[in-house]
Amino acid sequence: MNNCFILLAAGKGKRFKSNNPKQFVNYMNKPLFMHSVDKALKSKLFKLIIIVSNYPIKNIRDKSVKVIKGGKERYQSSQKALNFLKNKKIKNVFIHDAARPNFSIKLLKKLNNNLRNYKAVVPFIKTDNSTKYKNGNILQNLDRNKLIFTQTPQCFDYKTIYKLSKLNKHLVTDDASLYLNYKKKIKFIRGEENNFKITKKSDLKKINIKNFYGVGFDIHRLIKNKKLYLGGLTIPFHSGLQGHSDGDVIIHAIIDGLLGAMRKMDIGTVYPSNKRKYKNIRSPNMLSPILNNLNEEGYFINNVDINLICERPKVSKYRKKIILSLSNLLNISKDQINLKGKTVEKLGLIGKEEAIACEAIVSLNYYA
Ligand code: ZN
Repeated sequence: MNNCFILLAAGKGKRFKSNNPKQFVNYMNKPLFMHSVDKALKSKLFKLIIIVSNYPIKNIRDKSVKVIKGGKERYQSSQKALNFLKNKKIKNVFIHDAARPNFSIKLLKKLNNNLRNYKAVVPFIKTDNSTKYKNGNILQNLDRNKLIFTQTPQCFDYKTIYKLSKLNKHLVTDDASLYLNYKKKIKFIRGEENNFKITKKSDLKKINIKNFYGVGFDIHRLIKNKKLYLGGLTIPFHSGLQGHSDGDVIIHAIIDGLLGAMRKMDIGTVYPSNKRKYKNIRSPNMLSPILNNLNEEGYFINNVDINLICERPKVSKYRKKIILSLSNLLNISKDQINLKGKTVEKLGLIGKEEAIACEAIVSLNYYA
């Protein structure tokens, strides 16, 4: 995995008309450029992620992410990043504009697969508009079927693009242009309509978001001599939850909520209890493949609301810790999670502290 993701975030964004450069404005709960960083991290395709920025960027904890200073023009920033990679044993680079936050991880994987056979892979889309070419005062009709519009991330064999970028002294608006200027062959693959560039403020609202909701419920019996797991944590208690897995009702209810919102059946279908390989499985390990799938398909968690139904342990005592644990497991911020405790007036199995139940509702955003 000797790939590097280069994120160009040094542009001034003249058309954006804001004091804050557009790469740093808040876009769907985080700075715009972070969408690209997070997707690159989640794809697990990159040994190194380089952010090229003329503004300080702090608070990125992942060690594979480095920030370097950019140039005045886009091609100079790209050049600087490629220079920085000298002697870092990089095989391929993915060069991406921070102003395109809406590409999918699926696209990254498709690009990566094509790099096995090609030294340059670039995504493109077509246009539905009729197109004219203006040359001075002369207008010509262009055949739109022959036009392609390139997007980023654009991927290249590092050695080749490094050589070309060293030779280049011209203004190019993307790295594919540079490649074509030197008559090199590019493999073009279908890009994504949603992967548009944000140049004006109104573009921030352009994306087509669909919402999906899913509800989950779970209950397990409490038995002696077992640890109690809730929300991925061990909670000191007189009993633990019986089950094929570790019995973590909170995570199970969330999994069912996520699967419901994705319209993918339920936890029992994904993890059948008659399969021995799932015996005693820890619930965070059941959650993570579901989250990978969710990211790959272009869903994002909007919020999660949970009712933990038990007489004891007291939810108020562990609320903060459980929310923190869930925010780490789900890779969302704490303020996207709410946890309520609900007792049952000492009624039934739950009232007698012989069982714990949980229900959760999740909402997902899907960028269609
Ligand atoms: Zn369960």
